[in-house]
Amino acid sequence: MKESYLGVDVCNHSYVSLTHLIKDDIDRNRQSCIVAVNPEKVLKAQADDNLRQLLNQATYQIPDGVGILIASKFKKGLIKERVTGIDMLLALCEMAEKHDKTVFLYGAKPGVGEKARENLLKTFPSLRVVGVMDGYEKNHQKILDTINLAKPDILFVGLGSPRQEYWILENMPQLNVRIFQGVGGSFDVLSGNIKRAPRFFRKSGLEWLYRLGKEPYRIKRQLKLPLFLFKVLTKG
Ligand code: UDP
Repeated sequence: MKESYLGVDVCNHSYVSLTHLIKDDIDRNRQSCIVAVNPEKVLKAQADDNLRQLLNQATYQIPDGVGILIASKFKKGLIKERVTGIDMLLALCEMAEKHDKTVFLYGAKPGVGEKARENLLKTFPSLRVVGVMDGYEKNHQKILDTINLAKPDILFVGLGSPRQEYWILENMPQLNVRIFQGVGGSFDVLSGNIKRAPRFFRKSGLEWLYRLGKEPYRIKRQLKLPLFLFKVLTKG
């Protein structure tokens, strides 16, 4: 089921229900794609019709960001929990390990993906990571050929937003891949290059406060949240 905020669709699935749907998509040989939606992206999409259509074309839009939750509450929607890109990636790796599905990591600076793979294998020792490629490779055909040769069930694309969303939608038809997920800077976090907020901040919806403390320049991005909520309340 989907809800719509300022013209952008957002699914109200939980990690568990979405993971089931994704497994089903793989088993039935269906291509699908997951994008993360947060208030900043919704505001950007208001000024950029292409981006809005692109986000809405995705099969699943996950509610990443506490702002979407608040908006859903205002609008009496059904979104009850945040589904973050990185936690969705972890949920899919857990499913992949359990059901013998394969994953490929594409994006981030050279070396980051390998480190991310190493750390993923510490948590999911039998996970089949069938390929890793950095996000700065210039030879487009080489990227497609490498992924097609590896034939992953799930391709995680970490090129930053909206580049990764454009990349996925453009290349889906040429790729022998079932599931695509845009994961932003998740490989940097998984590799240990960037630290996530401690559990307390994540569970209480205060991850933004922790990140603001660490990276004060984020204030410009975060000030968009009240604007987003104001617009949702006044326009829908
Ligand atoms: N990146 C990439 N290729 C590029 C530009 C960026 O692989 O040409 C990677 C970058 O190394 C980083 C990620 O994309 O790992 C962007 O992370 P960021 O946190 O900025 O993305 P967001 O989650 O905010 O969309």
